[in-house]
Amino acid sequence: MTGIARLCVYCGSSRAVAPLYREAARELGSRLAAARIGVVFGGGHVGLMGILADAALASGGKVTGIIPEHLRKKELAHNGLTRLIVVDSMHERKRLMAENADAFAILPGGIGTLDEFFEILSWKKLGLHEKPIFVLDLARYWAPLFTLLDTLVESGFASPDILSLIERVESVPSLMEALARSGRFRRKSLSQRF
Ligand code: AMP
Repeated sequence: MTGIARLCVYCGSSRAVAPLYREAARELGSRLAAARIGVVFGGGHVGLMGILADAALASGGKVTGIIPEHLRKKELAHNGLTRLIVVDSMHERKRLMAENADAFAILPGGIGTLDEFFEILSWKKLGLHEKPIFVLDLARYWAPLFTLLDTLVESGFASPDILSLIERVESVPSLMEALARSGRFRRKSLSQRF
């Protein structure tokens, strides 16, 4: 198989965020559906996660949510998804999200999103997968994160190649272009060992 068939999206679950972030989540959901790229995400119906899933579904896209039982019980799960996989733990959930996608996009979010970003980046650094990682730096939201990564490299705690393991994009259209580009150059089968 070539191309990106499924994109794992990590993004905020908060409702209290500026309209520009909500609008970008909506735009990304519809564009992914139009490009026939399935969405894999945390399965929640809250914040940017819910907006993205609703927009993708409304445009005829396929959306898979992977949620741990304890969050589903709190009725935070999205019940209208193409597929909702319920798992026992956060670890199992993150493993399945990563396994079920061909690439990752990090949208603005909070500590949950940061946790997911650092895990998928460190797994790539350790050679556990070779999938593309895109950071959607809307309105320079992630600038402090890139400053932190530079500091890690400058102080010798991380090797400079960590910066080449991620691609920074500044808008939803640039993310879509990057996905199309990386799909064209993508090797036929990417290894993964989670
Ligand atoms: P945060 O950035 O702290 O809002 O956390 C969002 C990220 O953590 C998402 O990418 C999800 O995978 C996960 N997450 C946090 N809260 C929920 C929730 N209520 N339902 C599903 N996933 C969640």
